[in-house]
Amino acid sequence: MNKPTQSVHSASVAIDADRRRFLRSAVGTGVAAFGLPFAESALAARSVRVSRVEAGRHDGFTRYVFRLSAPVDFDTLLLDNPARAVVDLRSTQLRDVALPSAPDSPVVKGMRVGVRHGTDLRLVFDLKKRARPQIIILPPTDGGEHRLVIDLPHGGGRDTVVADRPDVPQQNSTLRSGASGFRELVVAIDPGHGGKDPGAIGRRGTREKDIVLNIGLQLRDLIAATPGLRPVMTRSDDRYIPLRKRTQIARDHEADLFISVHADAFRLASAKGASVYCLSQNGASSEAARWLAAKENSADFVGGASLSGHDEDVASVLLDLAQTKTLESSLDFGDRVLGQIGNVAQLHKRQVQQAGFAVLKSPDIPSILVESAFISNPQEERRLRTRAYQREIAQSILAGVNSYYVAHAPQGTRYAML
Ligand SMILES: [Zn+2]
Repeated sequence: MNKPTQSVHSASVAIDADRRRFLRSAVGTGVAAFGLPFAESALAARSVRVSRVEAGRHDGFTRYVFRLSAPVDFDTLLLDNPARAVVDLRSTQLRDVALPSAPDSPVVKGMRVGVRHGTDLRLVFDLKKRARPQIIILPPTDGGEHRLVIDLPHGGGRDTVVADRPDVPQQNSTLRSGASGFRELVVAIDPGHGGKDPGAIGRRGTREKDIVLNIGLQLRDLIAATPGLRPVMTRSDDRYIPLRKRTQIARDHEADLFISVHADAFRLASAKGASVYCLSQNGASSEAARWLAAKENSADFVGGASLSGHDEDVASVLLDLAQTKTLESSLDFGDRVLGQIGNVAQLHKRQVQQAGFAVLKSPDIPSILVESAFISNPQEERRLRTRAYQREIAQSILAGVNSYYVAHAPQGTRYAML
């Protein structure tokens, strides 16, 4: 019997799933108002279209890339006897698109497509041996199309190869690498407040610390499901963590990015919308003075150069350079996250704001603080309490991370291969 043996992955990575659902009902209402039958074209209009499919063999995996008109929701299944990997793309059409011939691959025999439930696209990968697909959806880099990337790992990753060849030196044990041998990018997620510090409190009694923990945990799961990324939480339950400790946790895990999640509050109930913050120049300058003064930081590496052994002027210049570069990266990253949030929520400010928040002060980790909405605004308080809005914020942040790393792929990471 060909029955699913394992549900590998069930993720809703589409940032606009709820908007699509909304659109669908809006289309239905509009059609009814005009007295027209529910037309096939209305169905087609809300479908995601595949415009191109490519396949190729790479070092360690076989990759399929689907160009899409919009992000998709997908589900994955592994089937045995014979081995197959199935990926279902919801509300997706593939018409008049040439399918690539199977690449010379140790795992993939070929790929078939079919229609499921009348509207979904089913991709079936016939496999030579069991392989767990790794899937990532990348936003457009230049106003073009989204890309759905499906990697089927060949198994027996780089570690095995190293062990088989005594002439190759062992990898540095601190190198973070996934099963495929790529260095994983570590994303530190910092849900604000916690424990004795409830953060802002809404009129209905909603506590910021609870909302931002929910958003943070959803973001953690999305990042964990994204190949090439690994999440680290500063807190994953209701506990108090001092601000400096939060950046220290990120540093201890050699985080590549730091994202603090909050909900805003203001004395006027009318204040509304989401915002994204980076460190201000003043905040950076005062932090530099603190770093240079603090003995415990002297052994830390900043921008690849050790501060110890340099005189204070040189150290100051090195730290300044590192901070400037980090701040540029933070602004770029923040801008991408803000743009994604702007697709699903109202924005308080259309530009990344800058302030001296302590959690943003790591001189060498690009860091942003996301204010998800105003908990002091009754309408937004209601939205913040919903899992749907929390998920939209988490998905937007993930899309911003993907967008940032597609544009600035560090060497040796999966993004450098996309
Ligand atoms: Zn807060």
